Amino acid sequence: MARRAAAGLLRRLAPLAGELQARGMSPTHYGTTNHGFSRFYLLQGRRHLYGSRTNIETDDTRQSTHMNFEVQKRSFCSAVAHIQRNPAYSVLNSDDVSYFKIVLGESSVVQDEDRVAVANVDWMGKYKGSSQLLLLPKSTTEVSKILSYCNSRRLAVVPQGGNTGLVGGSVPVHDEVIISLGGMNNIISFDNVNGILTCEAGCVLENLSSFVENKGFIMPLDLGAKGSCHIGGNISTNAGGLRFIRYGSLHGNVLGLEVVLADGTVLDMLTTLRKDNTGYDLKHLFIGSEGSLGVVTKAAILTPAKLPSTNVAFLSCNDYMSCQKLLLAAKRNLGEIVSAFEFMDRHCIDLAMKYLEGVQNPLPASPYSFMF
Ligand SMILES: Cc1cc2nc3c(=O)[nH]c(=O)nc-3n(C[C@H](O)[C@H](O)[C@H](O)COP(=O)(O)OP(=O)(O)OC[C@H]3O[C@@H](n4cnc5c(N)ncnc54)[C@H](O)[C@@H]3O)c2cc1C
Repeated sequence: MARRAAAGLLRRLAPLAGELQARGMSPTHYGTTNHGFSRFYLLQGRRHLYGSRTNIETDDTRQSTHMNFEVQKRSFCSAVAHIQRNPAYSVLNSDDVSYFKIVLGESSVVQDEDRVAVANVDWMGKYKGSSQLLLLPKSTTEVSKILSYCNSRRLAVVPQGGNTGLVGGSVPVHDEVIISLGGMNNIISFDNVNGILTCEAGCVLENLSSFVENKGFIMPLDLGAKGSCHIGGNISTNAGGLRFIRYGSLHGNVLGLEVVLADGTVLDMLTTLRKDNTGYDLKHLFIGSEGSLGVVTKAAILTPAKLPSTNVAFLSCNDYMSCQKLLLAAKRNLGEIVSAFEFMDRHCIDLAMKYLEGVQNPLPASPYSFMF
């Protein structure tokens, strides 16, 4: 039974391989393969290199090009030269817009040039798309209707959270319809005993942090983009952040997900059960898959208890090896109370002091190259 269910899911995920091609991917970029998922992995590699359009051939890519079948390794050096729009995908027309207005209401279908322009570009201005349409669904049902329609019309889409990502994943490559999750920002429930938060994907991380802190808990992740990034975006990028060292990755902290697949099917995996051994744990496919397998609409997250106190130490070190020794010493002597460990090198410190107003080096006389 479980095997049949998994096969069914994989069949449903298949249209997304086409969705990736709409965003400029062609299987031929990566050698011959019948293994759809390898393309999903490689897409991430493309994103990392997209800004500079770097064309790097590694031993891995050379080898895979010369084989008829292979299990491809995850790589950060996928070769990308020219990204062509796949002509098999439709171009948006006025009937499409009318349909979306019926489903979502006028105010959630944005064609205003200025507003769409903001969603077409990432926050650093490095990646720019040419979408004509921004959709703002407010429920899972609306997301499902959008995707079902786009799938039947062969319209490419890109999900967008807080648009804080650094690799261009949240903005269109060509003219994809942008689906922003910003309107789905409700907290659904909080289990005070087990610290389990259930919320919609468009909740801003900082708002969730404030909410759970008032109840004596903290979010298991914290990062610089917290004031804008969404929990759905965090999950889709498998964001790490400052608390990773203590609380681990979202693969451990996300207990359940609700996801809408490309054909509009709603996959309800929104369990809040911490120990759930029933069959395949499909939610992990969606954590870190950057919207390539489906749109995350809800999540259940395990939140750790708030610490009674926090102490921060700022230290300096001579070289990178000493940083590693310090980390080891901290873990040995402080055990699991080490919540975060970050280092900055001299270059980074100098840049921060040069460009950020009011920033001072707490160890001004330090001759050392690394700080924590
Ligand atoms: C100042 C700063 C500090 C950062 N620090 C860290 C850090 O410490 N650690 C770290 O790992 N990352 C860090 N990041 C990057 C981080 O991964 C992203 O900022 C954040 O997780 C993305 O969330 P977002 O809502 O902005 O998603 P977006 O940028 O909008 O989207 C990111 C990707 O997820 C997809 N996506 C978004 N929402 C959904 C959804 N609901 N369903 C399916 N797919 C979706 C998008 O299509 C895109 O591919 C930092 C970014 C900034 C700007």
